[in-house]
Amino acid sequence: MFPTTIAGSLPKPAWLAETNKLWPSWRLAGEELAAAKLDATLLAVKEQEDAGIDIVSDGEQSRQHFVHGFLEFVGGIDFAHKVEIGIRNDRYKAMVPTVTGALTLNGRVHAAEARHARAHTAKKLKITLPGPMTIVDTIADRHYGDKVKMAFAIADLLNTEARALEADGVDVLQFDEPAFNVYMDDVKAWGIEALHRAIAGLSCTTAVHICYGYGIKANVDWKATLGGEWRQYEETFPALAASRIDQVSVECINAKVPIELLKLLDGKDVIVGAIDVASDTVETPEEVARVLADASAFVAPERIIAGTNCGMAPMRRDIALAKLAALGKGAALARGYMR
Ligand code: ZN
Repeated sequence: MFPTTIAGSLPKPAWLAETNKLWPSWRLAGEELAAAKLDATLLAVKEQEDAGIDIVSDGEQSRQHFVHGFLEFVGGIDFAHKVEIGIRNDRYKAMVPTVTGALTLNGRVHAAEARHARAHTAKKLKITLPGPMTIVDTIADRHYGDKVKMAFAIADLLNTEARALEADGVDVLQFDEPAFNVYMDDVKAWGIEALHRAIAGLSCTTAVHICYGYGIKANVDWKATLGGEWRQYEETFPALAASRIDQVSVECINAKVPIELLKLLDGKDVIVGAIDVASDTVETPEEVARVLADASAFVAPERIIAGTNCGMAPMRRDIALAKLAALGKGAALARGYMR
């Protein structure tokens, strides 16, 4: 009961990339960088194992950013001429590349780190990919002229990489869709169908992560405008419950999400966020266990996976590691409560 996992990312070591940044520059280049990414992947796996994490990830050590780590391998995009757009419904401005032709995949994206992680752990392995809607929201379009058409083209590319990752021995493929908490009507109209396209033909476990974003200022400011109760999940959970996605990863601890909304995910495994990535205060195991116990009132305990609210990429590394340990200990404590 209550196996543990993380949303996906961990901070990168200072010898690999700039620290405490969402878009860090690499410290190395060429073959040295490629080797360093694999070393950092191994470290991330080991740190998760030591903290008692059951479903480990590569820590996203090989990608500069969770969306652009994928787009770097996509043809039909002009990275040289970035334009400023408002993303996540204008929550913040970002300099993004432009789609100038039909999108194609230039070979494998995450083969090296997935195979390296697989070779060094007996635990279940999770790899994350950005979801189609979130990608569409993070690039400018001068080719498709229709964001749904572009999303399905992207979903096909994601599916190609997802199938290859499954063949590499990945147990869980998770799609990160923070945009699902912004464009709720689009989720129902085409977002879930685009995810279905991305998971077509997979037999491994599939997951979607839907959060209120990293702990950066733009997100903290946005959350302050959402009122006393955050009910975005209420609109999308019924559609997700009816979807073919196996697991839904959600933000719970310190969020103003009414916990009873989790019952709308009936029939799904729920990755319950029990670690706050927007705060440097390290949770106690008791606080983690309390969130899992609260969630158990609305989700069958055997369907609960203990997780983090979001990725930990921009955090201080020592704090992230302490939070990992709290997650492992808190889940163990919660198992004791349920006996
Ligand atoms: Zn997230």
